[in-house]
Amino acid sequence: MDPVVTRFAPSPTGRLHLGHAYSAIRAHDHARARGGRFLLRIEDIDGTRSRPEHVATILADLAWLGLTWDGDVVHQSQRLDLYAAALDRLRAMGLLYPCFCTRAEIAGAMAAPHGATPVYPGTCRSIEAPDLAHPHCWRLDMTAAVARAGALEWSDAGRPVPADPLAQGDVVLARKDAPASYHLAVTVDDAAQGVTDVVRGVDLFEATHVHRLLQALLDLPVPRWHHHALLAGADGERLAKRHGAPALAALRERGEDGRELAERLRTGDFPKAVAVPTFTS
Ligand code: GLU
Repeated sequence: MDPVVTRFAPSPTGRLHLGHAYSAIRAHDHARARGGRFLLRIEDIDGTRSRPEHVATILADLAWLGLTWDGDVVHQSQRLDLYAAALDRLRAMGLLYPCFCTRAEIAGAMAAPHGATPVYPGTCRSIEAPDLAHPHCWRLDMTAAVARAGALEWSDAGRPVPADPLAQGDVVLARKDAPASYHLAVTVDDAAQGVTDVVRGVDLFEATHVHRLLQALLDLPVPRWHHHALLAGADGERLAKRHGAPALAALRERGEDGRELAERLRTGDFPKAVAVPTFTS
């Protein structure tokens, strides 16, 4: 079997909290326990929200937790050509369309089939002669993409999961304000970096349906996924959503022992907010 490669891929839009530490430790330990490699990727394609000072803090936080990573730290902002090439391929397949909708228009028109997450209603899908001089993002024509890729599945913690990207609607692959979206960049990078095992929070479980589809469309290798439960505060709310989740930097600055904290996170005496879904397949 190929050596295991995992990664931690934070967005430097704020300071890391305990939930990030937990996720980084899970990915790090997954690789280390198997003699594999652990990579660090900074997901900074969002030029308006990403801040260089957060990158320095993230590196210091991880070192404080006793985590080591292999190779150079990769920055998505330096890999835009790769994303543009993937976008060109999908466009050449006739699977993308420009969308001119504003946030307000989309918010008013989101279509939610009964009980499902609202998705983009496809307003711009069939514009005859789009005027690309106007601000636009690029969306994946999900129905066409799924028809082309056929039935897919992926593996989560060793269990097969049927891919259901249709439920995610026509997702954005290049933003109005950034040359790629999270979905596209993460899929391209995991393949380019040879990631074999994606260990991340279950909040990204639904996104995996889209990533699996993009891998099929772009002929990319398919990693294994291991979505983990999210840490919660005492009120049961997941940390990322709570006000006042302590930043790792704040704990570090007040002299707490990061390695000791990492050990406590490993031994699991922290409440979990969201359980990992179970499947019947
Ligand atoms: N950059 C994403 C985040 O900070 C994580 C990406 C991933 O693990 O796939 O939420």
